[in-house]
Amino acid sequence: MDGLTGRVIELLTEIQAGLFARALKFRDEHTTRVTNYEDFKATMEGRPGFVIAGWCGAEACEAEIKAETQATLRNIPFGSEGIAGACVKCGKPSIGEAWFAKAY
Ligand SMILES: [Zn+2]
Repeated sequence: MDGLTGRVIELLTEIQAGLFARALKFRDEHTTRVTNYEDFKATMEGRPGFVIAGWCGAEACEAEIKAETQATLRNIPFGSEGIAGACVKCGKPSIGEAWFAKAY
């Protein structure tokens, strides 16, 4: 019984780290960054997970992307605003990197 509490804490920490690493690996393997709309559409045809692309901030572009690919905007992570790029749909300067995904 000596050291049991410490050993349990160690094991739980190890298990937590393993689960986190597995989830991170899965997310990374199912995330694709694209820079043009042809690649965006081609990637969205399968079950791509997340597709990261520039977005200008216009609702019209978001709506057209959704109508044409069923993908919706899920997230614009803090810190991505400074990343220069072009909207994957219209080519205007992007406001940041947007994460798109389909529901399935
Ligand atoms: Zn746009």
